[in-house]
Amino acid sequence: MNDLAQPIERVVKLTKPQVEALKKLGITNPSQVLLHFPFRYLDFSKTQTLDSLTPGENVSVKVVIKSISSRFSFRGRMSLAEALLADKTGNIKAIWFNQGYLAKTLKKGDELFLAGTPEIYKNLLQFINPIYEKVSDFPIHTSRLVPVYHLKSGIYPKTFRNLVKTCLIFRQHLPENLPGDLRKKNGLPDIADTVLYSHFPNSLKEVETAKRRLAYEEILINQLAAQKTKLELGGRAAWPIVFNQELAKNFLSRLNFELTTDQKKAAWEIIKDLGKTSPMNRLLNGDVGSGKTLVALMAAAQVVAQGFQVVFLAPTEILAKQHFETAKAIFLRPNRLNPNLRCVLVTQNHSLIDDEQIKKSGLRQEIGDGTPGIYFGTHALLQKTVKFKNLNLVVIDEQHRWGVEQRAQLIHSQNKVPHLLSLSATPIPRTLKLAFFGELNVSQIVNKPKNRKPIITKLVDPQHRTAAYEFIKKQLLAGRQAFVITPLIEESDSLGIRAAKAEAEALKKIFPGFKIGLLHGQMEAMTKTKAMADFSANHTQILVATSVIEVGIDIPNASVMLIESAERFGLSQLHQFRGRVGRAEHQSYCFLFANNITLDGQKRLTAFCKTENGFELAELDLKHRGFGELYGQAQSGWNFKYFDPTYLTLAEPARQDAKDLLEIDPNLDTHPGLKALIQNKIIHFE
Ligand code: ADP
Ligand code: MG
Repeated sequence: MNDLAQPIERVVKLTKPQVEALKKLGITNPSQVLLHFPFRYLDFSKTQTLDSLTPGENVSVKVVIKSISSRFSFRGRMSLAEALLADKTGNIKAIWFNQGYLAKTLKKGDELFLAGTPEIYKNLLQFINPIYEKVSDFPIHTSRLVPVYHLKSGIYPKTFRNLVKTCLIFRQHLPENLPGDLRKKNGLPDIADTVLYSHFPNSLKEVETAKRRLAYEEILINQLAAQKTKLELGGRAAWPIVFNQELAKNFLSRLNFELTTDQKKAAWEIIKDLGKTSPMNRLLNGDVGSGKTLVALMAAAQVVAQGFQVVFLAPTEILAKQHFETAKAIFLRPNRLNPNLRCVLVTQNHSLIDDEQIKKSGLRQEIGDGTPGIYFGTHALLQKTVKFKNLNLVVIDEQHRWGVEQRAQLIHSQNKVPHLLSLSATPIPRTLKLAFFGELNVSQIVNKPKNRKPIITKLVDPQHRTAAYEFIKKQLLAGRQAFVITPLIEESDSLGIRAAKAEAEALKKIFPGFKIGLLHGQMEAMTKTKAMADFSANHTQILVATSVIEVGIDIPNASVMLIESAERFGLSQLHQFRGRVGRAEHQSYCFLFANNITLDGQKRLTAFCKTENGFELAELDLKHRGFGELYGQAQSGWNFKYFDPTYLTLAEPARQDAKDLLEIDPNLDTHPGLKALIQNKIIHFE
């Protein structure tokens, strides 16, 4: 067993609870200790003399103990240690509450580094509970940038720092994943230095250097995986679709509006891709309400009419049903547009062909037989038991992902790869586009349908709440509907954040004569669907919802979006909410309420009121809150650990580097470290 992999308790004496606490952090050996990086630093790098201290400032001092003793205070309940300390310029008192034992471990004459913020206590400048450490050449708790780690109870920060320091001797043995020439070219340190700079930096610049290296490594791996997947895919053929103009014309004649120029352009780009013998890889990107669904359905019609199967995946059951209904309205009424155009809904709770229920087993059979149709569904469709045979197009709505993975999961009994069309309303800032979507062709819908009026957005002062409700009442009386969004489901006792359930009850009293619906993530799927259907049919006039409402819901009659505790949402998310209204000719409104808002928060929300440009808002989010905010945590696939918007400039070089590496060595056999790291990220096609 090598040094790095030996049990950690063999390197350092640890108690059982400490070993357990480390295990909870996923740490059992020195390698894992070294790679458990701090998430911030306490700046005690300034070492001062005692005559230059000011209250409230973080400092380190180097002192000698003049005297130290312990006593009990607070009616004998707490033991504390008190010391008188001195340097050449003066002396100062330090008190450690609850740590009377220190009077035994520290002795008169000991030289110490202390780190803390001196405070005035009983008229005297003192250190209260300062961090201390015996003077050495390599202090780790004081007198430097002191690392702060995410830890579990059972392991103290000091213990962990000591552990890291001990393990540092093994850092030269850490496997180096980045080829030397790439490090050199991009000005990045090797892994040993990265580890040293991360844990015990001499300056913030060293911290930055280490972070850059980690970010680069992460983005390089991401790029390698994406490009390798693309290479595997490139070798596979797709069934080409010959454009059927007649069908397209008939499709358009069924709409009661004209496609926008951007919709037409996007549709044409997709149709051209479909005509090729290599699988399409396209992202259709357009702001909320820009009409992506129609473009996707138009493409789907082309594919199905030629006898193939299409899968249309939505993130939720509600959305799958909504798309299914939209499709039926176009494809089945007044008559079937094409004999092959059957609309199928397959979710946990539904299994329908056109307007008829069908048994799940029967449906599975049809899918396996390769019966043509558009199969709408959620991830349930990705189960291994569902085996498509003639699948030639996969549409993925609002997944913010490349969708490549999902497509791979759908291919079982056919050797051709289906075309892929990914729909996303998440604006991709220009800075991100090349780096992340370099492997993907992008069609963009910029202009919205002509009938849309700008949405009037206001941050409402709490004292005008009643007026806002009066306004909404007028809208309801005029036949419109309203959304109310709250961040929580249940009332929480803290912070006065509004919760959906309580809000729905309260609104019943404020809006007598109107019906109030409720929608949140903990409801049963059927109840959710019913809540949506009720609102869609205008059986309820106000829908109180949590963020489950976020993606894609289309209720053209709704004209008001009221958002409670708006400060708790990212701007892109607010933009998604706002996009639920203003989807038809009615003038629409978005009202924001905020509580406990900071100045920064106020600025963000004000910016939001001023623009309906999703791209601008995305850039703002990116700047303030990082990727998670922009792309959602779980579903994003953008869950980087080290890479954040600060390092966007590294993305393009990494993309190029990945390309170069794969060109010389497509299997990465000369880079076993990188090869291992991307192994579980590449999507293999059966
Ligand atoms: P999104 O891009 O957010 O998915 P949808 O596809 O749900 O948008 O479309 C939003 C609404 O706009 C739908 O009610 C749709 O019927 C309507 N719509 C789509 N295209 C047009 C258009 N060219 N003119 C007018 N309305 C349109
Ligand atoms: Mg949509």
